[in-house]
Amino acid sequence: MQPPPRAFDPSSFRPQLAALTDWIVAYYEQLPHLPVLSRSRPGEIFNALPATAPELPDPFDEVLADLDQLILPGLTHWQSPNFFAYFPANASGPSMLADLLSAALGVQGMLWQTSPACTELETRMLDWLAEACALPAVFRAAGAGGGVLQDSASSATLCALIAARERATGGSSNELGYAGGLVAYTSSQAHSSLDKAVMLAGIGRANLRKIEVDENFALRPAALAAAMAADRAAGLRPFFVGATVGTTSSLACDPLGELGRLCQRAGVWLHVDAAMAGSAALLPEERGRFAGLELADSYCFNPHKWLLTNFDCCCFYVACRQDLVAALSVTPAYLNNDASASGGSFDYRDWQIPLGRRFRALKLWFVLRGFGLAGLRALLRHHLLLAARFAGWVAADPDFQLVAPVSLNLVCFRYRASDDFNRRLQACVNAEGRLFISHTALAGQHVLRLCVGQAATSDEHVAQAWSTLRQTAARLNQA
Ligand SMILES: *Cc1c(COP(=O)(O)O)cnc(C)c1O
Repeated sequence: MQPPPRAFDPSSFRPQLAALTDWIVAYYEQLPHLPVLSRSRPGEIFNALPATAPELPDPFDEVLADLDQLILPGLTHWQSPNFFAYFPANASGPSMLADLLSAALGVQGMLWQTSPACTELETRMLDWLAEACALPAVFRAAGAGGGVLQDSASSATLCALIAARERATGGSSNELGYAGGLVAYTSSQAHSSLDKAVMLAGIGRANLRKIEVDENFALRPAALAAAMAADRAAGLRPFFVGATVGTTSSLACDPLGELGRLCQRAGVWLHVDAAMAGSAALLPEERGRFAGLELADSYCFNPHKWLLTNFDCCCFYVACRQDLVAALSVTPAYLNNDASASGGSFDYRDWQIPLGRRFRALKLWFVLRGFGLAGLRALLRHHLLLAARFAGWVAADPDFQLVAPVSLNLVCFRYRASDDFNRRLQACVNAEGRLFISHTALAGQHVLRLCVGQAATSDEHVAQAWSTLRQTAARLNQA
């Protein structure tokens, strides 16, 4: 019989890690010059890969060579300084190192007992961020609430919705599998993860009301109040409002104070999704948009978007952790243990959908210590400045126009021409590879979006993006 392999062999691991480190450093050096959007065709990479797994081990240098040959051309370079599409998905040195460490430790943090440090570092990191972002005291672990790391804002929103459903039904929908008559509300600009959450939580998409927005794309509280009243009159039960600070299309911010007071009067759960914009709460001068958050039952934001922490890392806060745990806790005999029974510790499996969980808090610990709050604030302010500069060029150019108020690091704009022209302009600049921008629909128009959020984006990259856009538009006009 063949002897088993050594899963961890220091004599090969050390040089392989060194080679991979060199590869990563070289990659970051090339990044500004690579075409941002992958030019790969569907099926190309799949077909270039062998149809079967190797029977015998492949040498590591061959694997690295294939990384260059087969994988690199199939990448869209999210860490490129010329990536302005969607929202950023930051990575950073400290964060990468922490993720490697998390993989090396291979810890499962489902219960406090399965690795106390995994739970307690996480609790402390969520408190650190709550403090640094001046979040309401109700979200700190010292009170009735607390924070937990989720993989994504989608998961956080689903957990919030389920906790709200159980609070509204006194726990009976978990027992009987039926939550009829419940109605959830959000704005027409909310993220699609809310649609998905109502599907998964058994609320039903027909029971999610998309409330109209004002001229700045923020939810209208009066329209919400009217919709709730109409539903109540029809014998239905409003139970959940999903508000957004920083919508995906235009970073519009719903008025949390008014919504919070409305929800409190109606006994309705208020969840606030600030997936992207939440990082801006680190800046005292940007905190106005979070006023009223103390009235929310739950809140989430993603350091994996705009806070130098690579995916996945979503901070999810609740004002009353008992609501969450009551909705999500199931304890089979094999997970019983004294520490849990004592109630003196958190078991984060009860704050999320899966049982298993990895040591994500290491990333926040390394990032917060590696850059310091001052470093993170400086980066955010740098991005805000670059976005404002770009917006100024757009506003001053008679051929272009801004189509939504500039919010934080996002500029929504278009060329003063048809939707079709704007689509062609976008397709052309993206195909050239010097930058990558995405689009959205606002007020029925095809709108171009430029979001400044990559760690290495500088004045020159933004200036280059603007000149590419102008030159390409001029060329298309001549054609
Ligand atoms: C990006 C985004 C999401 C989705 O985030 P995931 O973490 O990928 O689920 C949800 N809401 C808003 C407002 C977002 O910007």
